Amino acid sequence: MERPTPYYSYDGKLLRQTLDAAKEAIKSHPAVGQAHIHFAIKANNNPMVLKTIASAGLGADCVSGGEIRQALDAGFKACDIAYAGVGKTDAEIKMALEAGIGCFNVESVEELEIISEISAGMGLVAPVALRINPNVGAHTHANITTGLAENKFGINLEKVPEAVEKAKSLPGIKLKGMHFHIGSQILEMDDFKALCNRINELQEWFRRHGVKLETINVGGGLGIDYEHPHKHPVPDFNAYFGTFAKHLKLEAGQELHCELGRAIVGQCGSLITRCIYVKNGTFKKFVIVDAGMNDLIRPALYHAFHLIENVSNPDAEQCLYDVVGPICESSDCFAKGIYLPETRRGDIIAIRSAGAYGESMASTYNSRTLIESEFIL
Ligand SMILES: *Cc1c(COP(=O)(O)O)cnc(C)c1O
Repeated sequence: MERPTPYYSYDGKLLRQTLDAAKEAIKSHPAVGQAHIHFAIKANNNPMVLKTIASAGLGADCVSGGEIRQALDAGFKACDIAYAGVGKTDAEIKMALEAGIGCFNVESVEELEIISEISAGMGLVAPVALRINPNVGAHTHANITTGLAENKFGINLEKVPEAVEKAKSLPGIKLKGMHFHIGSQILEMDDFKALCNRINELQEWFRRHGVKLETINVGGGLGIDYEHPHKHPVPDFNAYFGTFAKHLKLEAGQELHCELGRAIVGQCGSLITRCIYVKNGTFKKFVIVDAGMNDLIRPALYHAFHLIENVSNPDAEQCLYDVVGPICESSDCFAKGIYLPETRRGDIIAIRSAGAYGESMASTYNSRTLIESEFIL
């Protein structure tokens, strides 16, 4: 029986190819040493996707207690889990300590004190990296740049000395490393180069102050080619790791960590939907599909572009359409003024590059049910 639409379809083979390409790129750049990727669970928490990533040996980057639970269930090792986020609750901190996670990425001096209090109370010492706001901009959408002093994330540069002193003085804290994340969907390697330069300056400061760090975590953010997913199904991991190999000065014995999300899963997923109506408006034609912004919010939230294809009628004459969903919001629009082969009621429409921040951001807005997924091995 045919699967009811809409649903997410994941290409397991492409996911494995992507994971292999990322690991190969690390191997071919010895300067980044034994770089370790922590997959950012928030990009996609589908259990089959997580299992595939865990069995490839990646770690997990989590931003809530729920994600830590999912990571453990999917088979990620606790010591390979990093936990970030500006608002970790006491219960989440306790749960992470009980699980024995590898690292807390700490975003404020206030948070350091609370983690120390809780871990010392449990007779434990929490492994910690300071999330430093490097004040490096990224050439990406304003809503997804995170590394500027005005963002809520991380410890601003002038506060770093205070945070380091605090970390050293607290009984429940072991300072392991520095952590950064400058934004998402970054395609200009110069942005990562700017991050490297800032990290090198900070390394100098740590050296002068006699603080040894085991890990340098450069965060995530590598982008994918939304315009040409068929031509570029696998992101340019060589350019990414090559940039760190060339510009980042690691100390002897230091390990490089990164937290890729979108680059690992983005191209592996499509949202499969069906045309319910073709409506002839006064000025334009609308393809009304059965998926909505609650299933894939990126176009509504970020004006994000996704390639849309009519897979039922691929060779028909091209017509101009707006592709919209059924939700009662004007922003429930997947594309405006695009050419599709002539589309008819019942045609299957594929929205490509929907593997990251698609299913994981879905909601039940308009009392719709969360949609299902298929994972093609
Ligand atoms: C969201 C996030 C990531 C992943 O970002 P991508 O752009 O999907 O690679 C990594 N680290 C942190 C701290 C994040 O918040």
